[in-house]
This record gives sequence, structure tokens and C-alpha cells, in this order.
Amino acid sequence: MSQPPLLELEQIKVVYNQVILAVSDISLRVDAGQIVALLGANGAGKSTTLKTISGLVSAERGQLAAGAIRYQGEAITHAPAAQLAARGLVQVLEGRHCFAHLTVEENLITGALARRASRAELAADLARIYDYFPRLKTRRHSQAGYTSGGEQQMTAIGRALMARPRLVLLDEPSMGLAPRIVEEIFDIVRQLNQQEGVSFLLAEQNANLALRYADAAYIIENGRVGLAGPAAELRGRPDIQAYYLGQA
Ligand code: ATP
Repeated sequence: MSQPPLLELEQIKVVYNQVILAVSDISLRVDAGQIVALLGANGAGKSTTLKTISGLVSAERGQLAAGAIRYQGEAITHAPAAQLAARGLVQVLEGRHCFAHLTVEENLITGALARRASRAELAADLARIYDYFPRLKTRRHSQAGYTSGGEQQMTAIGRALMARPRLVLLDEPSMGLAPRIVEEIFDIVRQLNQQEGVSFLLAEQNANLALRYADAAYIIENGRVGLAGPAAELRGRPDIQAYYLGQA
């Protein structure tokens, strides 16, 4: 029997405050071991899609009006975020969201709280994350609020990894960061994918960048899938730019 997709969304519809149709019809799949990109302009519905998967939308006055979500073949349509994190599905929110007054290392440790990890396990996981993010090792005793934007993004990703996820939902990792740092972060995402088998569903406005790293991509336009396919096929297609018209 063939494996079910790691994640599957079927005709998701999300309405905020009973009037704002943020997502009208999104279906997508992520297979185990894949990096899948969710592309689209500002306001297209990428963040809403990710938050709906991770169980955060209902906590935010949003409402999942229709559709189904399955993770590892099981329905998770209304599962709360904490339960999903315990099952290996975690989100890194847009805007990095570190605890500014905690050190980098304390931020990382918060990612393991739900696991009730032993001290030895924590130490091993921290060491593993510092291997991937040497910058975080250097900065581990600094207050996160005083680290650079790139370091905060790395801290946010590192914290998600402390939950030992199978699937990470990554929202706009490139936002506000210098191209060199963005490349560094995407290279680490690729290493995590190839060496640890972590799958990623990542929302990005920077389509050219994301298509270089992703296996497959969905282009979201006004809350629905406009175009989808293997990243190799979508790369360089001139019509992709049309989805971003109006973007600064
Ligand atoms: P961005 O890159 O700006 O985050 P996005 O593609 O992720 O864009 P969403 O943030 O999902 O898009 O927004 C989709 C639509 O839903 C937009 O029209 C937005 O204004 C609206 N929206 C998002 N969050 C809320 C909310 N909490 N309450 C009401 N409307 C919202």
C-alpha cells in the first residue's frame, strides 16, 4: 500500500470575522521528505493557510469554514496547536517571534517544553542545533532581542526544531533579511531536509528564491491555488511574475 501524504489539505476555506474571505479554496499536499513552497503576493492567504494547518487560526478569531486537513493520514482539521506540536507538526510564525528578554539558548529550550525532555536529551538537541546554526552557538548567552534579524529567524527555526518535528511550517523566512543571510537560512533548511528528513511547507513572497530550494510549489492568488507543480517546472516560467503584479 502506498504511503499517505505527510500533509493533505482539501478545499480549505477560511473566513475572518464572518466577512473576510482570506482563503476561498486551497488544496495541497506535502509528501514525506519534501520542501514545498507556498508562493503568492502580500495578502494572498499564505499565512492564513499555515495557521489553519497548525491549529492557530481559530485562536485568532478566524474560522475554518470548510475543508479537511490530514496529517500522516489522520484528520487534524480541528486539532489544537499544542497537540499537533506533540505529533511533530510545528509552525515558525512570520516575524520571528522570539522571547526578547530570554537568551538565545533559553528560547531554544522553550521549544522542547512540551516534550518533557531530560537534561541529557536537551543538551544533545541543543548541540545538534548549534551544529546547524553555528551563529546561535556564538550568541547563545545573548538576549534574543539584542541579536540580529537573521539570528532571530535562526533562533525561531531552532526553537521549532527542538520539538523534533517531522513537518515545519515556515512563514516568510526571508522577510526583512539581507540576501546573504537569507541564503544561509535556506541552505540550512535544505541540510535539515536532506540530513534529518524534516519536511517543510514554507510561505514565501520571494518566488525565485523559494523555487531554487523547493521540490514543489503552489502559487496562491486571492485565497486559491492559481498554479501548482514541481519547482523545476515552475522555475523560470514567465507567467509566474503575473501573480505578483502590483507588488512593490
Ligand atoms: P502576508 O505575506 O502579508 O502575510 P499572506 O499571503 O500571508 O500575506 P494572509 O496574512 O493570510 O496573507 O491574509 C489573507 C487575507 O486575510 C488578507 O486580506 C488579510 O488582510 C486578511 N487577514 C489576515 N489575518 C486576519 C485577521 N486576523 N483578521 C482579519 N483579516 C485577516
